[in-house]
Amino acid sequence: MSSESIEKKDLTPVIIYKGDHINKNKVIGAIIVIVLIIMFLILLKKPSVKLIGDKVEKVSYKSEFIDSGITVKYYGKDITNKVVLSANINTSELGEYQIKYKIPYIFGTYVYTRKVVVIDDMSPEIILQGNEEIKISYNKEYEEPGYKAIDNYDGDITKNVTIMPKVINDGETDIIYKVVDSAGNTQEKTRKVYFIDGVKPTIELIGDGTIILNVGEEYKEQGAKAQDEKDGDLTDRIEIGGNVNTKQEGTYSVKYSVKDNNGNETVATREIMVGNIGKANMNVGTPGVVYLTFDDGPSSNITPQILDILKEKGVKATFFVLDYGQNTEHLIKRIVEEGHSIAIHGGSHDYAVVYSSAESYLNGLDYMKEKIKKTTGVETRTIRFPGGSSNTVSRKYSEGVMSTLVRETLKKGYRYFDWNVASGDSGGVKTSEGVYNNVTSGLKNTRSNVVLMHDFSGNQKTVDALPGIIDFAKQNGYTFDRITDKTPMVTQSVQN
Ligand code: ZN
Repeated sequence: MSSESIEKKDLTPVIIYKGDHINKNKVIGAIIVIVLIIMFLILLKKPSVKLIGDKVEKVSYKSEFIDSGITVKYYGKDITNKVVLSANINTSELGEYQIKYKIPYIFGTYVYTRKVVVIDDMSPEIILQGNEEIKISYNKEYEEPGYKAIDNYDGDITKNVTIMPKVINDGETDIIYKVVDSAGNTQEKTRKVYFIDGVKPTIELIGDGTIILNVGEEYKEQGAKAQDEKDGDLTDRIEIGGNVNTKQEGTYSVKYSVKDNNGNETVATREIMVGNIGKANMNVGTPGVVYLTFDDGPSSNITPQILDILKEKGVKATFFVLDYGQNTEHLIKRIVEEGHSIAIHGGSHDYAVVYSSAESYLNGLDYMKEKIKKTTGVETRTIRFPGGSSNTVSRKYSEGVMSTLVRETLKKGYRYFDWNVASGDSGGVKTSEGVYNNVTSGLKNTRSNVVLMHDFSGNQKTVDALPGIIDFAKQNGYTFDRITDKTPMVTQSVQN
């Protein structure tokens, strides 16, 4: 208030209402207050912060933390670029952290905070050792191939793994592995185990595995039985195939096959031999081939000489041997080593013994087969009956034994040979000339020639005749061979 205006007031009567005076002061005061409030409000008003992302941010253990950020406005003006971020977040340590956004504004620095939590949100890993799919035989126990569980935070937690088998069906079980880490993250893995039937069914033939029939005799199918460990009786599923022509000489196969539910197949075979069993079969084989055969050995004085001659002449032969002692075992080996065929004459040559029964001779055969196999490694199937299949001496000891023996030996897989050229060296012929004449006159180039000779002890005449016989045969276009499983059987006629 100036002094001038006071003076003016004094000169001019002014009615002053008491109320007006009071009002004026109040207005001024109010204005001041309002101004102060406004100023205070301006002071109080902070920049407006808008969060990007969640209010509390989560970050995975050991991962990189990237702040989602904020936007800041102050009185409509974007001042985001003025924000200074202060964050000290160690993601290698689980826990709570804070980010500080320092926002400078007109009245200082406004600090805004946001919570950041480092968490373990990663599931552990289950590693299965062995295959994830396993096939095992249905009758075998499942053996766990092993597993491991590794967690990014807890490390090896294999011991926390639980294993639960879950049967899906008869042939399938799931093995379920579960594990939970300390943060509650779970993992599950499944191994499939298939129980399969890997065992083949068995087939049992009804009747003999080898059947011997004479030409024209009827073949009667006797069938077979099939059994499977898992599927039980499969007899109804057996398929029988093969053709047997009993009008035609030969060896036929009947096949029996069966499959179980898993497709495992078993095949069994029956051999049907159709021939003139026990009948003479003399004109067979490759024409002009000579099979020199020596019975009743080995002997330590004759057999080595025969082997020497055969070696010198480059000829292979066949030796039908009797039971031998240690002193002649080397000759059995030599026969095989020098490329000849080893064959069985019998366990004994004593007719009263070998033909006392079919079993007696058959037992001797099996014994000899094993013995020769032990000595030489060769399992021979070639035999010659003492006295030949046409002998008449055996009926003295057992009537009809030869009829039985020709069938039974064939059934057991043996092949018997008689001869169609006789040297006579075990009978009436006493000289090497006699042996030579018998053999050379007996050879025929229209058939194979099985020549019967002997290498029993003292039979020097055969040794002496042998070089001439070989030379004669060679000069007349014959060739030599040894008897094998492929050689057609030369047989005489059974007499009892
Ligand atoms: Zn003999």
